[in-house]
Amino acid sequence: MSHARRTAEAYADIDPEKFGARPARRTRPRTKDRPDYSDAEVGRVLTVDRGRFRCQMLDSGVLLTAAKARQLGRKGVIVGDLVRVVGDTSGEEGTLARIVEVEPRSTVLLRTADDTDPTERPIVANADQLMIVSALADPPPRPGMIDRLLVAAYDAGISPILCLTKADLAEPDEIIELYEPLGVPVVVTEPGSQLDEVDELLVDHVTVLVGHSGVGKSTLINRLVPGADRSTAEVSEATGRGRHTSTSAVALQLPGGSGWVIDTPGVRSFGLSHVTCESVLGAFGDLTEFTRDCPRGCRHTDEEPECGLDEAVAAGRLTPGRLASFRRIVTALLEQSG
Ligand code: ZN
Repeated sequence: MSHARRTAEAYADIDPEKFGARPARRTRPRTKDRPDYSDAEVGRVLTVDRGRFRCQMLDSGVLLTAAKARQLGRKGVIVGDLVRVVGDTSGEEGTLARIVEVEPRSTVLLRTADDTDPTERPIVANADQLMIVSALADPPPRPGMIDRLLVAAYDAGISPILCLTKADLAEPDEIIELYEPLGVPVVVTEPGSQLDEVDELLVDHVTVLVGHSGVGKSTLINRLVPGADRSTAEVSEATGRGRHTSTSAVALQLPGGSGWVIDTPGVRSFGLSHVTCESVLGAFGDLTEFTRDCPRGCRHTDEEPECGLDEAVAAGRLTPGRLASFRRIVTALLEQSG
């Protein structure tokens, strides 16, 4: 079973209604009261704004606006969702289609809780990559933040990528050294540099971009998606909080229809309260084997006296660098969850 799938099931155990993780498994047979929408067109949700969902239909490419059908109840529809749409799907101005079903999500990222909403709600669905954008200087990189974003990606079954910007201001070597042992692909950019390497990583994927104010994320998106017109006046710390950050993700199609990027303005981290050391470990297949003989409840940190990971290093089966990097992100998780 894939990690992503296992994660989706874990979410389903918590609250299947909220996550909509498994709507495909129907425990009750369809009746006249529960119409079959399997023939309805499928669209991707690009934006969510006050109960209106901008969708692009997969087959026709038509852009339309839809509302949630009543039968969906409180079930959330979020950016990246694949939804079945009925009614007026012409996309003509003034028309409003109806979303009647949400397809099972392959992955989910949660927004963090804040003063306005103490619940970690899903914010992006079906992404398979998370590109963490960090400047090398001005503002300086924050490894702690990068580590927490990595944890969110690993837990969700999403492949992380690190994009280091402003290489004209500082050398990337130190940061690369921190993340290379984890196997995270790293791309380095500077103003005006070619983005071929970034393009290549994004082709045929759905990639969420996340990064702090001033790291150049909007600039990067504007270059990747000409005409995207993402505001480079980033959401300030003062106004970013308390606004409807759960509705601020936006899906943008790459030129040529070769993939999607999802911008998350105002998002600086994803919810981690449900994440465990084991779910992070699950993203590191080679390490799992070494932890089989760990004492019960081992958190695989430096403080664990008999962790199998130390034995693996002693036996030359695991590099100290990879263990140190893994432990750093587990520690980031443990600190986060207190
Ligand atoms: Zn251990």
